[in-house]
Amino acid sequence: MPLEYFYVVSVHNITTVKREQAMNKFDLGGKTAIITGGGSGIGRAIASCFAQHGAHVNILDMDEDNLSSTIDEITSSGGLISGDICDVSDLSKTKQFVERFVKEVGRVDILVNNAGIASIGSLSQTNEEEFDRIFKVNVKGVYNCMKACIDQMVDQGGGVILNMASIASLMGLADRFAYTMSKGAVHTMTLSVARDYVDKNIRCNCICPARVHTPFVDQYLEKYYPDSKDKMFQKLSQAQPIGRMGTPEEVAVLALFLCSDEASFITGAAYPIDGGTLSIR
Ligand code: NAD
Repeated sequence: MPLEYFYVVSVHNITTVKREQAMNKFDLGGKTAIITGGGSGIGRAIASCFAQHGAHVNILDMDEDNLSSTIDEITSSGGLISGDICDVSDLSKTKQFVERFVKEVGRVDILVNNAGIASIGSLSQTNEEEFDRIFKVNVKGVYNCMKACIDQMVDQGGGVILNMASIASLMGLADRFAYTMSKGAVHTMTLSVARDYVDKNIRCNCICPARVHTPFVDQYLEKYYPDSKDKMFQKLSQAQPIGRMGTPEEVAVLALFLCSDEASFITGAAYPIDGGTLSIR
């Protein structure tokens, strides 16, 4: 047999072993995960990624169509997934769905608070109604879901909470008063929960993305730039030092790491995923 053949075989084997080791490392097999806003964009990518890595995922999303198409897609690729139509700003509904999921599967190992909505405008341009609308989903929604899960996590001996913050948690974005307020609160709620439950084996972190290409961005462009969507898309992409928007899948991989046992020493952290926006502009 020619030497090259052995060489190719051995390289192939090494590659295979490495890939298997990597898959095992981020294994969520046997774990259960609740993902809010899992019907679209970043949440959908996280749901799909966690299901691919063995977790039993339950999505809470208020959009029925998004929810059912995500469930169909993940189920058809062999993932274990369920979901409920739920507005996370409603504490009693959120508690009800979390309790039902726990009754069905026995525990909640991972909570990803991803559901969120956008708001444009400076302080002068933000009226009370808009402030309350953003607060209700982006702040109270996160409180509601953590509140619904935390006692269960304590009783079962641990868990992981991952909150979707933003670069707006760490810097002042132009014309985003209410959104920045809400994402700052997501960051500080993360710190508080991480501190109070560190001795209960509960880790709590947040992710701080810059612009990621999701329906969230498309809807914004459609609403504010209906006649120059493509031009604005390019402009927004070029505004990030890396020259493009992130993808939901890139955020999902960071979420997978932070929710896996490989991140067992990480709590109270805010992870930028921003193509250099916070650090190298
Ligand atoms: P998206 O609009 O594509 O998806 C959000 C999902 O959340 C939707 O399925 C929607 O139905 C659901 N949702 C909204 N309000 C809800 C509520 N009250 N209850 C339950 N479900 C609700 O958005 P995305 O871009 O994937 O953003 C996800 C998260 O990431 C948000 O918290 C957002 O603030 C954050 N984020 C996004 C970007 C970005 O550029 N896309 C950047 C930084 C942070």
